[in-house]
Amino acid sequence: MHSPLGPASISPGGHVAIVGAGPGDPGLLTLRGHDLLLHADVVLYDRLIDTRLLDTPYKPACRRVYVGKELPGRASRDAQQRHINATMVREARRGKRVVRLKGGDPLIFGRGGEEAAVLAAAGIDFEIVPGVTAALGAAATTGIPFTHRGVAQEVTFATAHGAKGGTPPPWSALGKLRGTIVFYMGTYTLPFAAKKLIAAGRRPSTPVAVVERATTTRQRVVTGTLANIAARAGAAAVRPPSLVIVGDAVDLRSSLDWFEKRLLFGKKILVTRPANEDPGSHRLEELGAEVTRLPGLEFRPARNSGALDRALRGLARFDWVVFTSPRGAEFAHRRMEKLGLDARAFGSARVAVVGWMTRTMVDAYFEIRTDLVPDDERAEGLAEALRRRGLRGKRILLLRADQGRDVLPELLSKAGAKVSDVVAYEHTEPKPDRAILARFASGEFDAALVTSGEIASTLKRWLGRRPWPERTKLVTIGPVTSGAVREIGWPVGREATEPRKLVEATIEALTK
Ligand code: SAH
Repeated sequence: MHSPLGPASISPGGHVAIVGAGPGDPGLLTLRGHDLLLHADVVLYDRLIDTRLLDTPYKPACRRVYVGKELPGRASRDAQQRHINATMVREARRGKRVVRLKGGDPLIFGRGGEEAAVLAAAGIDFEIVPGVTAALGAAATTGIPFTHRGVAQEVTFATAHGAKGGTPPPWSALGKLRGTIVFYMGTYTLPFAAKKLIAAGRRPSTPVAVVERATTTRQRVVTGTLANIAARAGAAAVRPPSLVIVGDAVDLRSSLDWFEKRLLFGKKILVTRPANEDPGSHRLEELGAEVTRLPGLEFRPARNSGALDRALRGLARFDWVVFTSPRGAEFAHRRMEKLGLDARAFGSARVAVVGWMTRTMVDAYFEIRTDLVPDDERAEGLAEALRRRGLRGKRILLLRADQGRDVLPELLSKAGAKVSDVVAYEHTEPKPDRAILARFASGEFDAALVTSGEIASTLKRWLGRRPWPERTKLVTIGPVTSGAVREIGWPVGREATEPRKLVEATIEALTK
């Protein structure tokens, strides 16, 4: 999808986009920013950028350069800034498309103005893309409306940072304001700032909220008054990045705090299914969970495609073509493209699938209608549904993984069908992300979703002698997977009543 400004790749030659990445939740990046990332040759990013933004499907050659290292002392921060400026200029002069990705909005306490000035002086083509600044992100996710009829008529963004040296904030002016004040970089200067505001005339009972990691699954909010907030934030050990919100509007939060009330807020969930087969994670994230992926399974095309090619060229000879997984449809389609075949190759063959996801994929890839999707999303369900339509003498093509269960071909043959069981793709074991695996083993996750017996045994191999982490609820996608899990000796915390109910099972596991 393109933003109204048009595709990001129009201008040839060097170009720098100073892009606001938003306050933390990667979903808050603008469409324009996303477009620019997709076309970037070089991305320079800061400390507060969510790593998921760096997983965007960039151009393969795109370099991602971390430039946010905080060096101690003011001179070194300036040196760091000079380095960033020089890199932007150099890459742009080489004709590269550079994205300078900055937390929040580039022009709010972000030195974006300084960077733009450098580019302007160097005569480099640049643009600035706004981002949701931390304060506005926090307003939404804390439920504190910065302006509100009868409560707050104006809002001020300030920083209390200058208290440690540099230009101090105009305390006496700030103390006279009656609306909302939001302080950036105020975590450590909070006691000082609160005193200054009271001394300058703000009521000591003025409500205050301190918001750590706003908009993320780790958001924390501490509330109090100007008189006691420093002690409360200290007791809660609030850390940067955090904001301080001062003003009567803070009280509205007591009825508007929707964010932390979501069903799975802050829950850490490990998802082990392959990344491209993960329809439920989006919903889990919407409910406030932090989803981490450790795929226990990966797919690749069949190494020997002879049988597959013959089957695909002769699709029309079959009475039924059966896809038992979304990937079966995907890999069959890929191979058909290579062979120069399209949906016409199916002729009058009918199509049956296991599962609604597979049906969606068949729809998407072949643009043909699926004739049969049994409610029972297991091999047994499909065999029974086909049997009821008459199987004797029927030619059936199964396009499956190399490691499909034998039940389906057995049941179909027993009912009198002539079955061709063809490997459309293969399962392989991915390399685990060691850091995530260690977090898993240490019991950091509230739940782990296990979606096949094969994935369970891979996890078992990865854990080695380490036991299933006790505090992590094991949620399975169904009885077959549960059986495999129990065989390993692990406790099934919850089992989905059907595959598409995995999210529901996860919610139950974590809330009941
Ligand atoms: N340009 C950024 C601000 C950079 S200054 C913006 O527009 O948001 C860094 C300060 O921003 C932090 O010290 C903190 O006060 C604030 N900040 C950034 N991200 C935050 C977050 N997720 N939650 C709370 N404060 C945040």
